[in-house]
Amino acid sequence: MILKQFEELQSYLETPRNIVIIGHRNPDGDAMGSTLGLYHYLKKKKHTPTVVVPNEYPDFLHWLPGSETTYRFDWQNSQAQRAIKKSDIIFLLDFNALHRVGSDMQNTLETYENDFALIDHHQQPDDFKYMYSDTSISSTCQMVYHFIEKMGDTHLIDRDIATCLYTGIMTDTGSFRFRSTTSTTHRVIAELIDRGAQNDRIHSHVYDSNSYGRLQLLGQALRNLEVLPEFRTAYITISNQEKLDNDFKKGDTEGVVNYALSISDAVLAAIFIEDVEQGIIKISFRSKGSFSVNEFARNHFDGGGHDNAAGGKSLLSMNETVDKFVNLLKEYKKEIQTSYED
Ligand code: 5GP
Ligand code: MN
Repeated sequence: MILKQFEELQSYLETPRNIVIIGHRNPDGDAMGSTLGLYHYLKKKKHTPTVVVPNEYPDFLHWLPGSETTYRFDWQNSQAQRAIKKSDIIFLLDFNALHRVGSDMQNTLETYENDFALIDHHQQPDDFKYMYSDTSISSTCQMVYHFIEKMGDTHLIDRDIATCLYTGIMTDTGSFRFRSTTSTTHRVIAELIDRGAQNDRIHSHVYDSNSYGRLQLLGQALRNLEVLPEFRTAYITISNQEKLDNDFKKGDTEGVVNYALSISDAVLAAIFIEDVEQGIIKISFRSKGSFSVNEFARNHFDGGGHDNAAGGKSLLSMNETVDKFVNLLKEYKKEIQTSYED
């Protein structure tokens, strides 16, 4: 755990400030929940916060309280730039390095003259003036809870803050089932429910909002599933054509990789998704046990993340990317086979 200049930050925040809060590109539940949870908290502390979102986020997160106040850097660029220019400090949430916001926004942030405060649970964070980094914690949302706790302000947690933080803890822990889910996570969740988070409604907003197309695409993805028992690995591909055929929207492939990991005896799973706009194959990796997909993604697919959940990309074609992946498995066969035992 790194906690850097916390007391200085605490006293800096004793005066009302203009604050910008940013999560990573292609925001997920934890990025949106943590930025909006912190937004509601800082507002209660009499600051003037603004959440700037790098790009589009899934429909199933638009109901989050405060989502209507955010600026999108890609299509509300002048408002976003103005907020950044006016800000006294920028909070960076749920990512560890500036390139994770995308190159346009990265350029803007690199010329920023005031200070950054990082709250994040990814490995190998870059250095910023104020830092709260802990790779052992389930989610950035749980860290925002602990941040509020460190500020001595848990009494300020209201329904909006609780709802946002609950959402990201739920999504980043796979609904409280991944190894990162600790007894502390459950205690935080209990407190958030007591403070107004309606667990059944939040779950329903996030997981029961499927479109017909999304389920059809899931059907296609499951038909594309390949299992490699000798490597305890399963993977899924989704081509651009398959996205088009099934009315693809942002977020529709979220969580699909977990079906590959759910194959009995699998300890490594991947999903390869063709993204013609970016000209890449976007990849998500998941593992069970000691095999670090963070290292694997970092070393071979220009990515990173956590030990058991990481992402990356490839500039090769789909077939070449999958071939590269399968060939790499041979190199890691022993590590994968021994990664996890019941
Ligand atoms: P997902 O597979 O759900 O997109 O991401 C899993 C984890 O890996 C998340 O913590 C996410 O932030 C991280 N991640 C996903 N893609 C990338 C990438 O291209 N680069 C890095 N450094 N991290 C990534
Ligand atoms: Mn996260």
